[in-house]
Amino acid sequence: MPKQRTKGKPVLAAVLVLALLPLVALARPAPPFETQTDLSTIEQSALPDACPLSKQAKTPAASCSGGCVTPQSPGEMHIADLTGEVSIDPYGNYLLVAYVVVHDQDHAPLEQVEVDASVWWPNGGPARRARMTHPNGSARFHWGSHVAGRWKLCVDLLTGEGYLYDPGAGEVASCAEWSN
Ligand SMILES: [Zn+2]
Repeated sequence: MPKQRTKGKPVLAAVLVLALLPLVALARPAPPFETQTDLSTIEQSALPDACPLSKQAKTPAASCSGGCVTPQSPGEMHIADLTGEVSIDPYGNYLLVAYVVVHDQDHAPLEQVEVDASVWWPNGGPARRARMTHPNGSARFHWGSHVAGRWKLCVDLLTGEGYLYDPGAGEVASCAEWSN
């Protein structure tokens, strides 16, 4: 009688292990692979953002095949000027208007460059704002406040097709402050 018991238990255990093994084998590798796939998918889907569709149409092959990061011979761009002024409207609200001018490596104004900037106002900030440069190379930022004090704007990044941002070539500092 005791023999049957001791025999039955290992067999049952072995059957259980055999039955569970495929499940364990299937379940274990799956999560890491899924996570990796998810990550690479996110990275890949982030790339096209650097290359707007409208620009893809202009230069289909040259700049976009490799993810729009390195065109054949990228130019360089820099901040040429950063100016601003705080005004007051008839209702007593303050308004900062700032202009960021972008040049290429030959100091020619660059249009269609996205300027990413952080803005601080007298009782808040930073807020991140993105504006495109106009044909004169200038991008306009504005921010309002109910109270007077110190204002600040920093250019965080320049993004333009066929051009790389060269922070070291800036003709002015990438941050400016104003008081009113
Ligand atoms: Zn310049």
